[in-house]
Amino acid sequence: MYYFSTRGYLKKFTFSETVFEGLAPDGGLFLPEKIPTIDKSEQERWRNLSYKELAFEVFRLYATDIPEEDLKTIIDKSYSTFRHKEITPTVKVGNFYVLELFHGPTYAFKDIALQFLGNLFEYLLKKENRKINILGATSGDTGASAIYGVRGKENISIFILHPHKRVSPIQALMMTTVLDPNVHNLAIEGSFDDCQRIVKTIFMDLDFKRRYGLTAINSINFARILAQIVYYIYSYFRVSIEEGASEVRFSVPTGNFGDIFAGYMAKRMLGKGIERLILATNENDILARFVNYGDYSVGKVVPTIAPAMDIQVASNFERYLYYLLGEDPYRTKQAMREFSEKGALRFDESVLNRVRVDFLSRAVSEKETLETIRDIYEETGYLLDPHTAIGVRAGLTYKEDFPLICLATAHPAKFPEVVSTAIGKDFPLPKEIEELKSKPQRYVVLPPDPKEVKNYMINNLN
Ligand SMILES: *Cc1c(COP(=O)(O)O)cnc(C)c1O
Repeated sequence: MYYFSTRGYLKKFTFSETVFEGLAPDGGLFLPEKIPTIDKSEQERWRNLSYKELAFEVFRLYATDIPEEDLKTIIDKSYSTFRHKEITPTVKVGNFYVLELFHGPTYAFKDIALQFLGNLFEYLLKKENRKINILGATSGDTGASAIYGVRGKENISIFILHPHKRVSPIQALMMTTVLDPNVHNLAIEGSFDDCQRIVKTIFMDLDFKRRYGLTAINSINFARILAQIVYYIYSYFRVSIEEGASEVRFSVPTGNFGDIFAGYMAKRMLGKGIERLILATNENDILARFVNYGDYSVGKVVPTIAPAMDIQVASNFERYLYYLLGEDPYRTKQAMREFSEKGALRFDESVLNRVRVDFLSRAVSEKETLETIRDIYEETGYLLDPHTAIGVRAGLTYKEDFPLICLATAHPAKFPEVVSTAIGKDFPLPKEIEELKSKPQRYVVLPPDPKEVKNYMINNLN
């Protein structure tokens, strides 16, 4: 399997090359030349596989340049860190299902992709005798999952900037209690925007970037999408067996469109099976406006109680756009240019009718999110984190007669203040999270100055 750029760059890439490149040289995103379809008899075989076995079947179709035995080892390593034997169990809550994606080391769904990416990096670096230094900024989830993805790995160092005293205490502790020598937490005396600006400035020094193999952590790496396809298929089989149903709907709390794009690929791989994907947003609703009115125009980012979805420009949207525009890289490139110039794209009814074959969408307000956490708790005793609650609210709006599977992207204990407010009382946190509070921490505090950050890096580079 080879990979091409959505903007039509001349050269094709192997899977391993896309892992290192992240973004294509022309600024486009990588897609596989073909989305494999799984016929009914193969699906019969897949239905009874364990999560790891299924991951292997899916990955081997895409990562064709990695020997199968090695792929198995990488999968085994990546998902042995999960606390649940099913990795991503699907549980029944009231009249719908919750696909729990938070059993990884940082209690967030990003672990599923980043545990795999970390092991993949380590494997490929060793094979190619290379080293990398990962640099990124975080306001929460991604930083912790990235750190856990690469802690203690050979030939990789990671530098994560977070705004000092401005990330939630639990998120900060998850990062700063990791003491492995290859992990560097940089608490910046400034805002998240300052952190992002510093990272951008350092990446612009191309000589520095090349010399030290500087690598970004962002949600556009195709390997991350790949890892996320597995749980859609796995959960679809669980629920279709349980319900005797041939079709289900998934509801997906969406920010950068990475998770739901994996769902779109899973839908295409299965043919019939996933009837529609429900795209749930918070008040940052650019994607809901796109699906409902063809209005893909940037608004101002408003901070909400579901911060991982506080996104206006969804970095993976271009992947879907490519398919929507008839698999035409020229049109995709034009559209992306128009979007960067005008901050908006408009789609007419004929295009929207095609969008609606795959997606339904709804934006969920803060008030509705809190009500959903409270109502589901009172009705069933099940606790939702705010991101998951947004997906549940949008999902129930469009449940109709289909079995509904809502993706739970974070554990409620990651957002204890919001969840306690919603249900009107405190709730017990998992022991591992409680214990973080008494663990030793390691981080450095630096001023919001790219030079200072670069100096620190130079003294600690891989
Ligand atoms: C990242 C994240 C999301 C959004 O996922 P995308 O792939 O960016 O759409 C939703 N919920 C949580 C908790 C997240 O961390």
